[in-house]
Amino acid sequence: MTTNSTLALDVLAIAAHRDDVEQTCAGTLLKMAERGHRTGILDLTQGEMGTRGTAEDRASEAAEAARILKVSWRQALDIPDGRVENTWENRLKIVRILREQRPRVLILPYWEGRHPDHYTASILGYEAAFLSGLAKLDVAISHQPSVISAQKTVPTKTVPTIGASASVEGHGFSRAEETPQESGASAPKSLAPHRPFKIIYASLYRDVRPTFVVDITDQFETRFASLMAYKSQFTDQDAGSGIFPAQKEIRARVESMARFYGMMGGVTYAEPFVQKEVGLVDDVMAIPVKSI
Ligand SMILES: [Zn+2]
Repeated sequence: MTTNSTLALDVLAIAAHRDDVEQTCAGTLLKMAERGHRTGILDLTQGEMGTRGTAEDRASEAAEAARILKVSWRQALDIPDGRVENTWENRLKIVRILREQRPRVLILPYWEGRHPDHYTASILGYEAAFLSGLAKLDVAISHQPSVISAQKTVPTKTVPTIGASASVEGHGFSRAEETPQESGASAPKSLAPHRPFKIIYASLYRDVRPTFVVDITDQFETRFASLMAYKSQFTDQDAGSGIFPAQKEIRARVESMARFYGMMGGVTYAEPFVQKEVGLVDDVMAIPVKSI
C-alpha cells in the first residue's frame, strides 16, 4: 500500500462514482480536514461509462478534486461503472479498504435513489462494514496505489493517547476510549478486523428529511471548486449538452441545495445527512438550531 496507509483515516466517504462525493458531502470532508482529521474518499467505479471524458480523464480530475478538498487518501476500485452490484466479491474489495484505512466515521450514499449504482453502493458499503468486523474473515492486503500522493496532506495533529481526550475537544468524538491499536498512530499494517464506529448517509441526491446538517458555510466555495475540477464533466461543451446543464446552471443548483439545507440548520450553507441511530444529548442548553 501507499506510505500514508500506516495512519488510520478519521473519516472515509464511499460513493459509486467519481464526483458523487464532491456533490454530496465534500464540504463536510473539507471541514473535517481543516480541523486536522484525516479524510479519505473511495470511489467504487472509475467512470468509464460516462458520456463525457475517459476513465483516465476522471482519474486526474479526481486527484485534483482530492487535493482541493485536502483529503489524505483517495482510491477508485475496479467495479464496473453502471454495474455496481452487491456481490461477495465486491464486499470483500471494500472490506480490504476498510481494514487498511480503518476509518472511525464512514459516510455512505443514502440507501434510496434514482441511480441503481447509488443505492446499491449504500447497501454494499454497509454490508462490507459489517463483514469487516468479523475476526474470522481473512482478507489479503491489496496493492492498489492511492491516486493522490502520500506526504502532502498528512496533518500535523497528534493522535490522542489513552486519557488524552481533552486534546480533541470540539471534534465531537475522542479516540481515548479505544484500545491503542485502534488509534491512528499505530494502525497495524496487517488486515486486522475493523468496523467503523459511526455510519452516516449523505442524502443530498434524495428528497428525504435529514436527521442533521453540517454547516459548510466556510467551505462552500472550495467545495464548489472541487466539483469544477471535473472539467470533462462540467465545462460547457457540445458532447452531451442535451443532458448536462451549463456551468452557470450547475452553480445555481449547487448553491440552491446548499442554501436549502443551510436554512434548515439556521446557517448559510449546509450538507444533509441521515443517521439511523437516535441523537444523544448531554446538555439540553447546548442543542443547536432554533425552534421558534
Ligand atoms: Zn453518481
